[in-house]
Amino acid sequence: MTTDRRKANLERLRQEPFDVLIVGGGINGAGIARDLMLREAGLRVALVEKHHFSSGTSGKNSQLIHGGLRYLKYFDFGLVSDALHERATLLKIAPGLVEPLEFLIPCYGPYDRAFYGAGLLLYDALAGSRNIGHHRALSAEATRKLEPHLAAEGLRAGLLFFDGKVHSARLVIENILDAEARGACVTNYTAVRWDADGITARDMLSGETFPVRARRIVNATGAWSSGAPLRLVRGSHLIYPRIQQGSEAIAYFDEQGRIIFLIPWGENNDLTLVGTTDIDHQTGPDAVRISDSEREYLQAIVRRLYPDFRGEPLTSYSSLRPLIAESGRSATATSREHRIWETADGVLHISGGKYTTYREMSEELVDTLLRDIAPGRDLPCRTASTVLNVLTPPKAMPARVRMAVEREFARKLRDILYVSTYWGHERHMDRAWLEPIAREAAGLLGWSEAETEAEIQYCLENQG
Ligand SMILES: Cc1cc2nc3c(=O)[nH]c(=O)nc-3n(C[C@H](O)[C@H](O)[C@H](O)COP(=O)(O)OP(=O)(O)OC[C@H]3O[C@@H](n4cnc5c(N)ncnc54)[C@H](O)[C@@H]3O)c2cc1C
Repeated sequence: MTTDRRKANLERLRQEPFDVLIVGGGINGAGIARDLMLREAGLRVALVEKHHFSSGTSGKNSQLIHGGLRYLKYFDFGLVSDALHERATLLKIAPGLVEPLEFLIPCYGPYDRAFYGAGLLLYDALAGSRNIGHHRALSAEATRKLEPHLAAEGLRAGLLFFDGKVHSARLVIENILDAEARGACVTNYTAVRWDADGITARDMLSGETFPVRARRIVNATGAWSSGAPLRLVRGSHLIYPRIQQGSEAIAYFDEQGRIIFLIPWGENNDLTLVGTTDIDHQTGPDAVRISDSEREYLQAIVRRLYPDFRGEPLTSYSSLRPLIAESGRSATATSREHRIWETADGVLHISGGKYTTYREMSEELVDTLLRDIAPGRDLPCRTASTVLNVLTPPKAMPARVRMAVEREFARKLRDILYVSTYWGHERHMDRAWLEPIAREAAGLLGWSEAETEAEIQYCLENQG
């Protein structure tokens, strides 16, 4: 039972000294924990997350494992090439969670086909022998046949290419569970802070605080990283009933050259995920919601592409890119390169980058760490070749809730709805729909009537 596993892990955190304490249970913290355990260095590793694992940016992104076609415009060839290679690696090590996805670029402008075609030639070349399928061009007629409801006026051609899609919250969870199975101590709802006097953890469920002993701290807190030169850029998505007819995603470049995706989505594949935006975010990492102008911008693109579509957005979600600040560049143009650096207190920080490149970034951070805490030892990285043991979740609600609670450390109703599953993103929730799920969780987690009601209320009041 998860209640006991979390309790046992908290007890370990209280009692044992650790070699490495990873703060942050997003994809970077998760990737670093798994990498460290796979090195078999005999290190004592702990990972703590102040809310639920993957409740930050990592579970609320565009769900793509991609090279990032748009970065070619900024000559970020190194970033694109790394990401394309990682795309191939993740397809291999996380089957069932990372899958190829075909994209269609509808070409309306007179030079679109030549311009984006040249970009895709380069994209294919950068992927090299690890490419997952070469791009191809379609006539206007063939494009209309593939997507009959796409705006026909001015449509000159279509370009098809491949990238990858992921259930991004679940890949985080699988990395964390794999690290735990290999001996790491992992606890959610555990916030950590540190200063010259030491490290203090707070159990966010009981409110209890206690000291933690660790030789080294890795700060993987993403948008919550303090003292770092970060630029927080918000990105939002709308979830619609299915818009496109085909199984391919649509990649559309707006007048400014920003790319917007319409991705076939949802457990029943009957939805479309539309995003994203790039807005400088000023109100801190805990208050992140879509603004009216972002909503209007995304809706206008749907109207532009599918003028006959009458569906309304069901819900939305937003999250923050913790980018390395660069002066004089727009939010869209700010580089997605990552940075790993050490501060005078010996803390190793990781920030920037993309979800797609988490494995490579984790490898770099762990190499840096091991040079210091295990010098001279030959401890090769094994994450590129060790397949994740991904479980296929059951379809039936009660079994799915049990898996979330007992296997995946879900402790709140929202953990089940937004991390173990994306059910909460897939519909505007009402009480009648939520109640059976809440009752199932209550039985497993021992919630009182009042606690169950509070969980339901929280989810009803905080939907996108
Ligand atoms: C809108 C959007 C779309 C994107 N789409 C894509 C995409 O399709 N493909 C792609 O490759 N990349 C994408 N990215 C980028 C990618 O999602 C992020 O780079 C990545 O998820 C960041 O992961 P992280 O682990 O650093 O941060 P997070 O996932 O935010 O994790 C940090 C965690 O630290 C925890 N934490 C904070 N403070 C403490 C503390 N004191 N104690 C304990 N825990 C703490 C937080 O609760 C949080 O869970 C997108 C980003 C955005 C914003």
